[in-house]
Amino acid sequence: MFSELFTCIQCGTCVASCCVRLNIRRSIAKFVSSGIFWDENLWNCTTCHLCQDRCPRGIPITDLIVQARSKVVENGRVPRDIRAMLESIQKYGNPFNVSRAKRREWMNGLKLKFAEESDFEYLWFVGCSVVDDRIKSVVRKTYELLKIAGIDFAVLKDENCCGCDVKAVGEEGLFEYLMEKNMEVFGSVKADKIIVNSPHCYHVFKNYYGLEVYHVTQILLEAIENERIRFKNLIEKTVTYHDPCYLGRYNKIYEEPRKILEAIQVNLVEMQRNRERSLCCGAGGGNIVRDVEFRPALRRIDEAKSVNADVIAVACPYCLRMLEDSAKIKNVEIEVLDVVELLYEAVFGHSD
Ligand code: SF4
Ligand code: SF4
Repeated sequence: MFSELFTCIQCGTCVASCCVRLNIRRSIAKFVSSGIFWDENLWNCTTCHLCQDRCPRGIPITDLIVQARSKVVENGRVPRDIRAMLESIQKYGNPFNVSRAKRREWMNGLKLKFAEESDFEYLWFVGCSVVDDRIKSVVRKTYELLKIAGIDFAVLKDENCCGCDVKAVGEEGLFEYLMEKNMEVFGSVKADKIIVNSPHCYHVFKNYYGLEVYHVTQILLEAIENERIRFKNLIEKTVTYHDPCYLGRYNKIYEEPRKILEAIQVNLVEMQRNRERSLCCGAGGGNIVRDVEFRPALRRIDEAKSVNADVIAVACPYCLRMLEDSAKIKNVEIEVLDVVELLYEAVFGHSD
């Protein structure tokens, strides 16, 4: 195990790439001399994949960090906050310690079709982040846009966590269990095609469950291109788009969110680190539930301000939460909005 690490040439590219300033080169040097590839800092890895993509020796660094976590988890040595996240997923089906009834609140007042009771073309899987009021608002706007686009969709009465963070913290057993249970549900409602808001759901559904899955930006862009969505309002704002790691680097979806922004005619500007070089928001790999010392999202706010953006557009609920919190901490004037919210504004006008 970890034999790939012996090919490391100690170039330091991974260290220079790391959004949370992990010294992977030092961890590898320690491994080479001691045979142990682990230190507690590896819990801070956001699994952003940048070091792995940039390593000149092709060492699967991110994958090896997750494997190292698995060994630690097997021995029961899990940090308290990650243990709480795993317990919450087992108890409530989401990482945020929120009841299933509270999770369903986003549905209030909407004329939803339920997958358990109806035929449908797409199963829309809204994801665990909907327990947060800010994300709930994005999800409800997604509903309006899917409706106006004429998409035939249904939702589950009760969703369970997709397991992306569970896998990233190395809890393989729980991940396998969640995947099996979710696949049973998807099979029972005959879900052939799934729409998701979260790149984390997208990633595991596509690459581990083996499902046909679409990020909501792909579905909405197609509706725009087929003129099933039309705009009433111009969005006269300078917008920069922040690529989420699990949509971009992991799954190579870079253009669809940008094309939506271009379609609604914002002034789209790029930060220096974009697409495959995008800076992580800091939430992946279980860090969404942790109070970490180093927040890359604070730096991302500076990068967005440096290109004079009025808005940072995101396509991931985790990025939205991390960047919005960071903008508040820094007390800078910049809006953090999901691409869905900007599109909603172009189609329906302001809702708040
Ligand atoms: S980028 Fe790859 S080769 Fe360079 S120090 Fe990191 S692991 Fe070693
Ligand atoms: S995956 Fe990202 S956060 Fe983790 S060590 Fe590599 S660069 Fe750092």
